[in-house]
Amino acid sequence: MSVKDSHRLFLRTLMTRPFLPEREVKRVYQQCCEAFDEDYSSDQFQPFLAKVNKIIQPLFLEVKAGVSENEGIKYYALINTTEDEHSKMATDYTPNDIAFFKKAIDLIINSDDGSVSSMDLMNVASDLEKKMLCTYAEKLLKRLVDDKWLTESSGIYYLGGRAMIDIDQYLKREYKDDLSNCMMCDLSAIQSQMCQHCQEKLHKHCAAKYFNGRAQRTCPNPNCGAQWTHEVPIIASTSTDRSSSSSRQAGPSTSQAGPSRSRSRRSR
Ligand SMILES: [Zn+2]
Ligand SMILES: [Zn+2]
Repeated sequence: MSVKDSHRLFLRTLMTRPFLPEREVKRVYQQCCEAFDEDYSSDQFQPFLAKVNKIIQPLFLEVKAGVSENEGIKYYALINTTEDEHSKMATDYTPNDIAFFKKAIDLIINSDDGSVSSMDLMNVASDLEKKMLCTYAEKLLKRLVDDKWLTESSGIYYLGGRAMIDIDQYLKREYKDDLSNCMMCDLSAIQSQMCQHCQEKLHKHCAAKYFNGRAQRTCPNPNCGAQWTHEVPIIASTSTDRSSSSSRQAGPSTSQAGPSRSRSRRSR
């Protein structure tokens, strides 16, 4: 297999920007082809990506796709495939930083909706074996958000899109009994809404799509059907929608498909 200049440029670009939304990655692909007058076709993106992944596999690297939990938008990340989360973060973070992040993950996974407050995180900082000053912890949180390991909204923290892709194996290994999948998309549901009756979960964006246009808000689990008591976000139906297609996927009269594999997780 021949390595083309476009492959090299694509990789160099992802080395500097290792976490990008699908639209951006596809634009990078186009720019890389055009830069060297190589054939470009939007439907050749996946074969191009497969080639890139073949080239970097011996280096324990992979360009991997994932879906951000809060928006339901597809992202691509250049990740290190060695499963050790320490080596993934070691260049940017100290062991104590990583210990703090792991405790944060712990609180997030064990919460009902996949979040943790800044107050609880400050308690984590002072409870660490090697105590962390609050001022340091605040700066660390900002870095974790900038690096997309966490996201923050009004002082509440969630796992970021990069964590969902890059330390996915760690999460599955450490929390195999605590993680469950979304009833609609069957991906890990951490930042989500949980049925008070059957404890099954929906991502907020999946709940928005599912309940859009439905008069009754009841749990989609066919064995449950309890009232859905959470506030369901409204789907943006105009150009404010940042993903190009998601608003169209869920028109009011269509796409009312049922849950994908609602009973799959308890039986595993
Ligand atoms: Zn979902
Ligand atoms: Zn239910």
